[in-house]
Amino acid sequence: MSLIEANRRQGTEAPPADPLSLSEIVESGLCIGCGLCRSIAAPDAIEMVMTPEGRERPVARQALDRSTLRRINAVCPGTRIAGPPPAQSSEAAMMDTVWGPVERLVLGRAKNPTVRFVGSGGGVLTALGQFLLSSGRVKFVLHVAASHFRPMRSERRLSFDAASMLEGAGSRYGPAATLVDFGDILDRGEPFALIAKPCDITAVRNLARLDPRVDRYMRYALAFVCGGASDLSKSEQVLQRFGLNEDELTMFRYRGHGNPGLNRIETGDGRAFELTYRQLWEDEDKWMIQPRCKICPDAIGQVADIAVHDAWLNGGPAAEDEALNGVIVRNRRGLELFDAAVEAGALEIKRETGIAEISELQSHQVRKRRAVWARLKGMAIAGKPVPLVSDLALEDCARQNSLAENLAEGRGARERARRGRLGEPPAVPREDKAVQSC
Ligand SMILES: Cc1cc2nc3c(=O)[nH]c(=O)nc-3n(C[C@H](O)[C@H](O)[C@H](O)COP(=O)(O)OP(=O)(O)OC[C@H]3O[C@@H](n4cnc5c(N)ncnc54)[C@H](O)[C@@H]3O)c2cc1C
Ligand code: SF4
Ligand code: SF4
Repeated sequence: MSLIEANRRQGTEAPPADPLSLSEIVESGLCIGCGLCRSIAAPDAIEMVMTPEGRERPVARQALDRSTLRRINAVCPGTRIAGPPPAQSSEAAMMDTVWGPVERLVLGRAKNPTVRFVGSGGGVLTALGQFLLSSGRVKFVLHVAASHFRPMRSERRLSFDAASMLEGAGSRYGPAATLVDFGDILDRGEPFALIAKPCDITAVRNLARLDPRVDRYMRYALAFVCGGASDLSKSEQVLQRFGLNEDELTMFRYRGHGNPGLNRIETGDGRAFELTYRQLWEDEDKWMIQPRCKICPDAIGQVADIAVHDAWLNGGPAAEDEALNGVIVRNRRGLELFDAAVEAGALEIKRETGIAEISELQSHQVRKRRAVWARLKGMAIAGKPVPLVSDLALEDCARQNSLAENLAEGRGARERARRGRLGEPPAVPREDKAVQSC
């Protein structure tokens, strides 16, 4: 299938004649397991399962009619990825080819020392969530936290107070179906904020085109800059390293309690195990990042109101760094929120920063932004479906690469796609381990 054909199948400007089935989305490596398809289909029509590879994936439990599939293709962040509408930016906003719309770039942190310590970097997202709640701007925050019952798993969390926000602080690198019951959340009819991965926010922005309740009730969408979600198998490897079983765990923290903080595991019989961030991620071949992440056109949260990232000023997380985040304020709504949070004492600013510095701190994101256009071309030439991407300047980013670099990216993706390495096996539940994610 050509790129144009694939896009024609998935486009939403004109209804696609032949939408991708759920299994085509998954097996093409486009699914990230957000759960939104489950929440917009008929009750019990789609189940989220944990696959043997350690990914949360949707499985249709009954035949999905064409209109449901069209709806899924229109909202799924694997089939449709759109950049932010320019109308959300102020006149003073900057538009950078790689980094997208920027109202303000700041290095900062939570002002509260506990939030700053417990949070993943400097606790900015947690502090913003707490501020949104305490100021009455929202009733609750939808985000992600460790499961109480299986603490290595991550679940969507609704936080109504500061303590619950703090409990959800910290990066959860494994799978997380943030939007698995998003329809129920809209049914509450209450103002809320979403803190999540950029692809989760893409999904919800897609849904906003079909369901006016999204813009009515979702007052803010905050993202972290995202290098990719790993399979649960990555976390299971850590357990194997220590000879542990998942059912022994009372805690599995990837990081936080410092910047970056330790990966810490606790068991019911009082034992504790720790790895440094570098030990956890030292071998890139074992990162086990999900296929969709390798072609992610917006891992930097262009569609969020504010996107937050790591800011390791000492050149990387080799050692513990001061509590700090980079903050990319994306639009007018984000700017108003950021200024109010600083004014109220929820956040403190270390200093302003700029595109050159964040490009250095996040050089892997710059490389990916420049590579994705050629990767998608390579996949399309191999006959694989690719997402419909709009308003994300992918081709302009690719122009910052040399022709040789683009050819290498495109050919590499074409070959990997032909060998099935960018796709996935059909989604089936793990034996004895099927989990419904809500
Ligand atoms: C999978 C993943 C990849 C990342 N890759 C990068 C990267 O390449 N570059 C970079 O600078 N930073 C990356 N981060 C983000 C970084 O780890 C920090 O989370 C970010 O800088 C925000 O820090 P903070 O102190 O404000 O976060 P905190 O105050 O600790 O708040 C983090 C918030 O994110 C939510 N959250 C955590 N995990 C998930 C998840 N899987 N899905 C949805 N919501 C979640 C939590 O519920 C919490 O509300 C990644 C995080 C994750 C989870
Ligand atoms: S990415 Fe989300 S909406 Fe798309 S198929 Fe996967 S779970 Fe469903
Ligand atoms: S890299 Fe992209 S697709 Fe992967 S988890 Fe992050 S935002 Fe989602």
